[in-house]
Amino acid sequence: MANYDVIIIGAGPGGYVSAIRCAQLGLKTAVVEGRDTLGGTCLNVGCIPSKALLHATHLLHEAEHNFAGMGLKGKSPSVDWKQMLTYKDEVIGQNTGGIEFLFKKNKIDWIKGWASIPAAGKVQVGDDTHEAKNIVIASGSVPASIPGVEIDEKLVVSSTGALELPKIPKKMVVIGAGVIGLELGSVYARLGAEVTVVEYMDAVCPGMDKDVQRSFKRILEKQGLSFIMGAAVQGVETSKTKAKVTYQPKAGGEAETLDADVVLVATGRKPYAEGLGLDALGVKMTERGQIGTDAHWATSVKGIYAIGDVIEGPMLAHKAEDEGMAVAEVIAGKHGHVNYGVIPGVVYTTPEVATVGQTEDALKAEGRKVKTGKFMFMGNARAKAVGQAEGGFVKIIADAETDRILGAAIIGPSAGDMIHELCVAMEFGASAEDVALTCHAHPTYSEAVREAALACGDGPIHS
Ligand SMILES: Cc1cc2nc3c(=O)[nH]c(=O)nc-3n(C[C@H](O)[C@H](O)[C@H](O)COP(=O)(O)OP(=O)(O)OC[C@H]3O[C@@H](n4cnc5c(N)ncnc54)[C@H](O)[C@@H]3O)c2cc1C
Repeated sequence: MANYDVIIIGAGPGGYVSAIRCAQLGLKTAVVEGRDTLGGTCLNVGCIPSKALLHATHLLHEAEHNFAGMGLKGKSPSVDWKQMLTYKDEVIGQNTGGIEFLFKKNKIDWIKGWASIPAAGKVQVGDDTHEAKNIVIASGSVPASIPGVEIDEKLVVSSTGALELPKIPKKMVVIGAGVIGLELGSVYARLGAEVTVVEYMDAVCPGMDKDVQRSFKRILEKQGLSFIMGAAVQGVETSKTKAKVTYQPKAGGEAETLDADVVLVATGRKPYAEGLGLDALGVKMTERGQIGTDAHWATSVKGIYAIGDVIEGPMLAHKAEDEGMAVAEVIAGKHGHVNYGVIPGVVYTTPEVATVGQTEDALKAEGRKVKTGKFMFMGNARAKAVGQAEGGFVKIIADAETDRILGAAIIGPSAGDMIHELCVAMEFGASAEDVALTCHAHPTYSEAVREAALACGDGPIHS
């Protein structure tokens, strides 16, 4: 079998990006992928299909609720669910096909099948053993459930099942108010389902600042989602066509039940390293079942690296991609680097919610002296023009003495794109004043970022 400089296991955002960078750096590269298409969780059953459905249902929501007010009269579109799923599948196909094209362009071999590592330097796929000077494990993650809840992908579905339901449920219970639960819950609420989100914690999206969580939840409630917070789901019973969710309020009292046509289990994901043979190789794992790595993504076995969802850190496609590029540079003898302090997180609801860096709550809990600048989108002309000014804001958290930006959160139109201005600012160690002194085009949503930066100093103009 062929000898490679690098064999990468898994063609998700971590693996495929790493392969392209390896090839660009002159390394002979192959990727082993067991799925029928490239792109991993993200392109096949994650980021991309969810955003296709979010886009289509957002347009439906606009037509139903906001068109008439803008003078666009007429019947709202009816939903052809089968066609919407076809649209989603076409979007997946365009993207996964695009990666195949990039592999050919960069002369990367796709070894089809499931890999194991019989020894350092060897990758087994079916009956073939391939040799590689370096192996990068990018085997990703899979949905995780909670005790008492068994996913059957029919009545009780993971995100994967929720992306291809045979019909739109009348009643959906979402277990977990994290990013995936809120995005897919929004999709079905916009399609007319009665969506109830049950969450163990007292706030949505754990890890965000409390004011962001509160505003976000309020906005989603206005859109028709219901929330049961502080409730521990104890089990889901299913009959032929219905499910019953039992939960115990944390505050005490009797256990309660909710009926549903479909239950979406969105309680997180777990790292996936099945079948690789890591035990036998002696690769050290973390307590949470992730592959342990050092600061250069090297595992405890020489020549074997790991990146993406299968290692520590936020389970995000762009985090996996950055690690993919960086590990390629390390293998090529260069200096790969990922700044874990500046990895944005985005919820692609309407409005979007985007965060980066540290939160005000966490910094204050550490005893740091910080100041915040907040600007409501109600003061932003562009957001008003598109009917997305209500409830959202930009918040910048800066060091009280140096004015250096430490974190930011945006709830508003295109927040997922706007956050990058603040990511770049943070990468360059900018102060809030640096952003405030930067001319921003009018009328843009980004003016709200500048106003929030001004709010860290002498004050914003439009509030
Ligand atoms: C519904 C949903 C929505 C999401 N939305 C977003 C989003 O908007 N933005 C964002 O940043 N992240 C999002 N994510 C998370 C994102 O998909 C993951 O963080 C990302 O895919 C991780 O990339 P990865 O390369 O580490 O692994 P994965 O994408 O999981 O890819 C791993 C690949 O390895 C393959 N593999 C595993 N073991 C083997 C083996 N032994 N042999 C061969 N192949 C193997 C698998 O088949 C898989 O294709 C979402 C996830 C879900 C489920």
